[in-house]
Amino acid sequence: LTAASGGGIVAYADSARAEEAPEPPPRKKKVVVLGTGWAGTSFLKNLDSSRYEVKVISPRNYFAFTPLLPSVTCGTVEARSVVEPIRRMFEKKGKDVAYYEAECFKIDPTKKAVHCRSAVGTNLDGNGDFMVDYDYLVVALGATVNTFNTPGVMEHCHFLKEVEDAQKIRKSVIDCFERASIPNISEEEKRKILHFVIIGGGPTGVEFAAELHDFLVEDLVKLYPAIEQFVKITIIQSGEHILNTFDQRIAVFAESKFQRDGIELSTGFRVIKVSDDSITVKCKSSGVETLVPYGMAVWSAGIGTRPVITDFMSQVGQGKRRALATNEWLRVPECDSVYAIGDCSSISQRKIMEDISTIFKVADKDNSGTLTLKEINDVLEDICIRYPQVELYMKSMHMVDIADLIKGGVGDSNKESMVVNIEEFKKALSHVDSQVKTVPATAQVAAQQGYYLADCFNKKDHCVEHPEGPLRLTGSGEGHHNFRPFRYKHLGQFAPLGGEQAAAELPGDWVSMGHSTQWLWYSVYASCR
Ligand code: FAD
Ligand code: MG
Ligand code: MG
Ligand code: MG
Ligand code: MG
Repeated sequence: LTAASGGGIVAYADSARAEEAPEPPPRKKKVVVLGTGWAGTSFLKNLDSSRYEVKVISPRNYFAFTPLLPSVTCGTVEARSVVEPIRRMFEKKGKDVAYYEAECFKIDPTKKAVHCRSAVGTNLDGNGDFMVDYDYLVVALGATVNTFNTPGVMEHCHFLKEVEDAQKIRKSVIDCFERASIPNISEEEKRKILHFVIIGGGPTGVEFAAELHDFLVEDLVKLYPAIEQFVKITIIQSGEHILNTFDQRIAVFAESKFQRDGIELSTGFRVIKVSDDSITVKCKSSGVETLVPYGMAVWSAGIGTRPVITDFMSQVGQGKRRALATNEWLRVPECDSVYAIGDCSSISQRKIMEDISTIFKVADKDNSGTLTLKEINDVLEDICIRYPQVELYMKSMHMVDIADLIKGGVGDSNKESMVVNIEEFKKALSHVDSQVKTVPATAQVAAQQGYYLADCFNKKDHCVEHPEGPLRLTGSGEGHHNFRPFRYKHLGQFAPLGGEQAAAELPGDWVSMGHSTQWLWYSVYASCR
């Protein structure tokens, strides 16, 4: 199955083959990590860096705990308490890890090198560019904001991606209150200046709205009592509901909480233009356009691809995708030595129908041209590791075991004695691939991927002998368990809604709302790192 299932399943193998001749201990392999966000730091923290020569490149010399950024916008949490300096983080690793405060602007997979530009001024030649070569490259560059090319957004909206963004927002909110307090400002003008608009009703926009509301009612209103009546918060969301990636109950809970708080929800509106003092929105159902005057706007309507990733994708022939595609072992399939984790990448899950004939042949141990239930059961575990959609499909169809699934191919028959030929086998599995799931762009996913990949690197010697993929399907012997593909473990979602109210969604359909859900959530983070 190896050849069929991986499309280049040799992540670890190549460089090892060159070393098969008995030689003195090889030089340490160079691992270059791009980015120090959730994915990059999780990888670095878990990597046994004494085995490699590690170089880390990132324009920010700190890690930012992004879930707390909305709280920084209103001073609930201090900026310095949501960051962790990179050099502190790797203090214990000593000389094993080098860090360069620089931006990578080009990845060259043929030369196995990255081109970088210093983020802290230039060198003596008046040019801060340099090149770093690698044996293995870990791309953990994250995503950028996505304006969907909406005119005026870049110039006039705030974003909430970095610590600096949060600090700028805080200053801008106060500025609005001071501007509205200047004498001789008309009421209409005051209403405009104190209209805070959030574009995008995803978790970030919603958390920010909740924080801002608390900040206004608990602090600012006391400091600016004369203008309290003019303050308004609006969330503009193009979909029908806010928080639409969450359980429906959470969306409803959040919407009614916001209604009580007086936060206006404009759902079903798309922003088509932003000027310095108004936002043009279009009602999706009627097509009618309206001007919304505002004082400050925060754009949190989606994530986009960094130019260096777009460039790299075009070099390796991935075309114009939204994210860099990897296989299930987090390797870029077109390059032997490039891995990608976190928001900049997405896993393309292999379809079972692409490998169905090979699976059938491997399972048919007695070469009878048919499979018995036992023959199928013998390879079932490996199939489920390689194609998680099989289990998801059976679950979604309320099937108890594989026999239920196979019955779909042979029609009604006795479970124990059923026998399927290749056509029946194909028919039975033909809908399974509809259950292929994409992993979301979240800190949880990024951290789990970083951890998983470090584990792979730490056990690389073992993996060189047993490259990617479940082996037992290939018949190359029992007990040679090599690396399982990455599997995301969903630990839940959390949305603070202001006033110590929060909504959490945990696996197993367990939804919790109300006070002190937050602590539960932070413990979920603690356990995934
Ligand atoms: P990032 O964490 O963005 O890291 C990217 C790294 O690459 C950074 O260090 C950056 O400086 C560096 N970099 C950028 N360009 C270059 C370059 N050219 N060269 C070298 N380095 C570069 N997720 C959750 O699961 N739960 C939450 O509650 C949650 N809340 C969030 C709140 C906010 C305000 C935001 C913005 C995000 C939130 N997320 C949350 C999402 C989460 O932060 C991301 O999914 C996560 O950061 C992705 O990790 P990453 O390592 O891929 O990218
Ligand atoms: Mg990262
Ligand atoms: Mg981060
Ligand atoms: Mg991703
Ligand atoms: Mg058989």
